Amino acid sequence: MGNSSDSSASKLQIVGTPIGNLGDLSERAAEAFRSCDLVACEDTRVTGKLLNHLQIERPMISYRDANEREVAEQLLSQLQSGKTITLVSDAGVPTISDPGFRITRLCQKHGIPVTPIPGPCAFITALSASGLPTDSFLFIGFLPPKKAARQRIFTEYSDFPHTLVFYESTHRIEKCLKDMELVYGSERYVSVAKELTKLHERIHTDRLGKLKDDVLRRSLKGEFVVMVAADSFEL
Ligand code: SAM
Repeated sequence: MGNSSDSSASKLQIVGTPIGNLGDLSERAAEAFRSCDLVACEDTRVTGKLLNHLQIERPMISYRDANEREVAEQLLSQLQSGKTITLVSDAGVPTISDPGFRITRLCQKHGIPVTPIPGPCAFITALSASGLPTDSFLFIGFLPPKKAARQRIFTEYSDFPHTLVFYESTHRIEKCLKDMELVYGSERYVSVAKELTKLHERIHTDRLGKLKDDVLRRSLKGEFVVMVAADSFEL
């Protein structure tokens, strides 16, 4: 059970969950669910399925972009009254292009222990298999949705000497690759990782011109991580 009788033991547990394959759920993640008083998650239906799979019942509270400010305050008072909270997102590591920053910051500010329980993160998983340099990279999260803003970012990083990594959604991947080619040209090495750890996983690394045609010939349904090599890189 939780730690509600011992206020000194209260803490926020930031727990990574699978990005597609339930086999990637760690023992420590399962234990974090079992040992907490409350689970803060984005979508209670998504996390409810995970808890169901583990045969664990815990109260859940929805903590998402739209209510993050208000729910973070509620979570803080629960922590201050001695509760232990497990924070998860729908998939991957909370706070990485996902909610969680506000409550983590509040805990740091109020001296409440925060403990990370690592799990899969889409961009680290993608980078590890990309064949692009991983010794130094910049992760920029999601690109802006508007074409002009996106191209500004590409231009800003066109001479960047390290690998550039970002997330892209299924309905923007086509535009993203086309815009990227306008700025970087067709010879730049790029890697696109799709549906990692799932049935239709594919990690494709090639020169942008060739890769774009190949990616666009296939189904564009799914989740994507896009990585761009420095101009000087040769596979
Ligand atoms: N917190 C998550 C993490 O640790 O990776 C990221 C959440 S962000 C809202 C969701 C984005 O991550 C997707 O749009 C996609 O770009 C990427 N992503 C998540 N799961 C993925 C997967 N299985 N394969 C490829 N990309 C994935």
